[in-house]
Amino acid sequence: MMEGLVLQLIDYGESDQIVRLFLREAGTLSAIAKGIKKSKHRFPHHLEPFRIYTFKLDKKPTHDLYWIMSADQVKAFDGIMRDIRKIALGNVIMEFILKGIREEQPHVELYGLVTSVFKELEGSDNISTLWFYSEIHIMKMLGFLPNFVTCLQCKRPLPRNGLNRFDPIRGGFICPACQVSPLGKGIDIGPEAFAALQFMKKSPPQAASRLHLTGPTREVIASFLERFTEYYLERSIKSRAFLKEVIK
Ligand SMILES: [Zn+2]
Repeated sequence: MMEGLVLQLIDYGESDQIVRLFLREAGTLSAIAKGIKKSKHRFPHHLEPFRIYTFKLDKKPTHDLYWIMSADQVKAFDGIMRDIRKIALGNVIMEFILKGIREEQPHVELYGLVTSVFKELEGSDNISTLWFYSEIHIMKMLGFLPNFVTCLQCKRPLPRNGLNRFDPIRGGFICPACQVSPLGKGIDIGPEAFAALQFMKKSPPQAASRLHLTGPTREVIASFLERFTEYYLERSIKSRAFLKEVIK
């Protein structure tokens, strides 16, 4: 038995579904749920995102896909399913997982992050902060988080009250004293945004969801994360556009 989440569902023929799973112990993989639309015995619950199941999987040597022999629902994040803004954020997180990790590579820590953010999101109204929190921590777990402490150039501590500039190509920050070149692809991060990023990086999701940010700070952080994640993942997160629209 393996615990996991459903990331993506595609109907296949009249009674089957192809499912992308994110398993706690095994990472992501593709599986087929044969006869899911007909067998209440093997599949007492529908498969849906934002739910945790225990799966029984099998793989026949002649097939590419795993077979889902049974799926039992362990938990439903109902608080997410009732709110379109939360569904939109959940979709962004799931797109990150689908695009950020290779199939069948275990990511136990990342699985723990996703389930703890979903749990917090159920009861929280602070969608934008949980969005930033999720992106920062996913990137950190994928090994891409920049150094928030020292300047890339002079190696001195970055000032907390200045305008530190993020350089996406070198993957770090330049202190005000070292900023000689024009802005280019960089982005200036003011004190409130910088402090919020540092705070979110070292906090649990409950603390982040209590953090309230001003509109301009939210904008700076959103564009920093967009440029930073797209540079490193080398692809864009398409579901972000809908999230931005519904939390406006
Ligand atoms: Zn410097």
